Amino acid sequence: MSLILRQIEALSETKLNYRLGFVVDSICGILLLGVGVSSHGGEPVFILVSVVLGYLYLTFLEYCIHRILFHWGPPNLFNSGHQKHHDDPKVLLALPFVFGVSLTAAHYYAFGWLFPGVDPTIFLGTLLFGYFVYGVVHHAQHYFTFHNRLWLRLLNHHTLHHVYPDKNYGVTTTLWDHVFFTYQKSLPTRANHQGAL
Ligand SMILES: [Zn+2]
Ligand SMILES: [Zn+2]
Repeated sequence: MSLILRQIEALSETKLNYRLGFVVDSICGILLLGVGVSSHGGEPVFILVSVVLGYLYLTFLEYCIHRILFHWGPPNLFNSGHQKHHDDPKVLLALPFVFGVSLTAAHYYAFGWLFPGVDPTIFLGTLLFGYFVYGVVHHAQHYFTFHNRLWLRLLNHHTLHHVYPDKNYGVTTTLWDHVFFTYQKSLPTRANHQGAL
């Protein structure tokens, strides 16, 4: 492994990087949403459509990143790092804290090329803030217990992923697992529920 990859790997295992990711993604996401909404204040339909599409796209990206980047191909920085999470879900691991912002910036240029003349600020703000929410939800799934029915469904979904790593790639929604036939409904036994985390 090259020196730069080793440094990225070392950074991804630090608590500072883990926490900085939450801070950077939430602040930049809210800033983008604020700028976008204030410049389209008189266009509620545009705002609503941008948020809904941004959220849907975020959940699709979440599924693709988890299934392809984290679970596919020969051993590399991404899937070996994610394997550490499967080996010990309590260890704080995260992609470099600039990942969410870099992904958003790349989408900004791609969006401008694909849809010239359409302002992507709200769409991308939703994408980046949604990425922050994804991180919070995943963290909470391994550290907190809530008894809300929707929460328990999502928790069960992700717990099953830790039992069957080729199923249930969605973290904040089960939608794309249904679409791509990777949905696993139930645990073998209730006893495995906590042990699998
Ligand atoms: Zn997990
Ligand atoms: Zn996984």
